[in-house]
Amino acid sequence: MRKSVIAIVGTTGVGKSDLGVQLAKTLKGEVINGDSMQVYKDLDILTNKMPISEREDIPHHLMNFLELHQEYRVTEFTKDALKIIKEIHNRDRIPIIVGGTHYYIQSLLWKHTLVGDSEEGLECEEILNAETEVLYKHLQEVDPVMSNRWHWNDRRKIRRSLQIYLQTGKPHSEWIKEQHQSEEETSLRFPRTCIFWLCADPKVLDKRLDERVDKMIERGFFSEIESMNNQVKEGKIMGKKIEFTKGIWQAIGYKEFEPYLKALKETEKEEDDKNLDNDVQDLNSLKKQCTENMKIATRRYARYQIKWIRNRFLLKCHQSNNGDIKIYVLNATSLENWKQEVCDKAISIAKEYLETGNGPDPILINPEYSELLSPTKDTDTFTTLATWTKFQCDVCTFFNENLPVIINGPYNWDQHLKSKWHKSNVKWKKEIDEKWNGNFPPWFKTRKNKVANILVENASNR
Ligand SMILES: [Zn+2]
Repeated sequence: MRKSVIAIVGTTGVGKSDLGVQLAKTLKGEVINGDSMQVYKDLDILTNKMPISEREDIPHHLMNFLELHQEYRVTEFTKDALKIIKEIHNRDRIPIIVGGTHYYIQSLLWKHTLVGDSEEGLECEEILNAETEVLYKHLQEVDPVMSNRWHWNDRRKIRRSLQIYLQTGKPHSEWIKEQHQSEEETSLRFPRTCIFWLCADPKVLDKRLDERVDKMIERGFFSEIESMNNQVKEGKIMGKKIEFTKGIWQAIGYKEFEPYLKALKETEKEEDDKNLDNDVQDLNSLKKQCTENMKIATRRYARYQIKWIRNRFLLKCHQSNNGDIKIYVLNATSLENWKQEVCDKAISIAKEYLETGNGPDPILINPEYSELLSPTKDTDTFTTLATWTKFQCDVCTFFNENLPVIINGPYNWDQHLKSKWHKSNVKWKKEIDEKWNGNFPPWFKTRKNKVANILVENASNR
């Protein structure tokens, strides 16, 4: 009966690790790391690992074990974490999954999670940088169903479908089909899942994140990056091609500080110190710029994480009906109120949940967050294969054959037929057919260009 799991989600820097330890201490729990960067060895500052001294002897699994050149995919994470959860349950303890890589946690809590469907795990195969036209042709070959779904000019979507195929070896459409067909689509792996979502006022959090970046630099963040670069150079990982677009090399901070460290090296190499003062000045301003870039990237990542939780994670929660899942929003805005707003609340909820198998109503815990708990509609999940049919409007296409007007799905097609633009084209076409035998009248050139421009605009707005 006690096969429960607890998960703590939320943005970077919101205090997930602290809550993890606090819950584990009270509930006889063990922490499982759900952060794709903290799986790497060392680099504690760069990856924001909780210092061992603060872990209060609570075991932290799946942390600090991977070599820098190694990759760790979501499928491996899920497999490893499932094994550890089983062991923790066998010890009659509670697994507490803590981390900001929400697609890791998602695929751990639910079966049949589309693993490739993640920007975080973005893997830049060479082909993905090609022109949209090339991408589209490629997608047509490997996944005609999906290519039929997207507009030929919709680079982002085409690219994502292709990426999923490259990552998983299975066409994107297959993944979606399986999800739709399978009743287990939203099936929970554990009969009882209690999730805490730590939220903070973005303005307050931004400030906290900025300060964290400054602190990281003070605490020796550069020496970690230096050691990463040395590993590359010294050939410790010789013979192994480093994919800088994957794994730890994607950690926020590494890329951002590349220009600074490079300039630093070059200054050290220079023998005469005639320009030393200038160099120092340049270096300082570069450092400032890199720091700012790292702060921007961190804030952006936090926004992205919230979007993920709202668009995907919550949706999964709401669709699960084969067990009990509850998600509680806790207000982590003020660190002064941490104990009462976050720690105490979480402990009392978790206790009730574990003891009775049914926690309090999440809406009642923090009524001001009730709106947050209703998921925003994820069109991907709700669209069915049937609505992917494409319609080409021959009337509108007639005015510029180089830019065929293709509409996705019957609903949009219906809207198109009712649109002013289409209706005006119908009128023109009729006139051309009747009076000019289907040929453009000589004075029509201007209109043709105008139409072409609208088409280009429309295509790029999609
Ligand atoms: Zn039309």
